[in-house]
Amino acid sequence: DRFEDPAEIGRFAEAASGFRAAELGGRRLEALEPADIAPVVLSIREATDRLFRRAIAKGAIVAAHLPDFLAACASGLSGSGAEIGAPGRPFGDPATPIAFEAALAVSALSLLRDETVARLRICPNCSWLFVDRSRNSSRLWCDMAVCGNRQKANRYYRRRTAAREVTNA
Ligand SMILES: [Zn+2]
Repeated sequence: DRFEDPAEIGRFAEAASGFRAAELGGRRLEALEPADIAPVVLSIREATDRLFRRAIAKGAIVAAHLPDFLAACASGLSGSGAEIGAPGRPFGDPATPIAFEAALAVSALSLLRDETVARLRICPNCSWLFVDRSRNSSRLWCDMAVCGNRQKANRYYRRRTAAREVTNA
């Protein structure tokens, strides 16, 4: 996991504030002490992965995995001053930043809805979990710009290589 290096947590929080801006309601993520929050961040990510990866395979949540998941989320949220879920402010007041571990817990917990579980997928390129929110549930990649294009490039490369082998034969 890239977050085993605490510096990555800081970099990710910074980057995600931008590419997840819509989902975060414009609220900036803040990771002031990445080394301090690293254990909580890792436990939320691992518990989330365990719970939902199994849920995709079975089409249902394994109840016995919930206590670990909820405990990890609870440690991300404890002591947080955030108020969440207001209309148009899913992560709270966009004028102030939200602690990264609290935002991670809120977004992990939001996956628990039945209709979201039904839309969870595993990206065939990078094997990350993602939620397919497309209208006809036809999204293939976690991120078209990253994994979609990489796959397209691979196919293109394979076709060219095959063509070259035929030409050289
Ligand atoms: Zn991917």
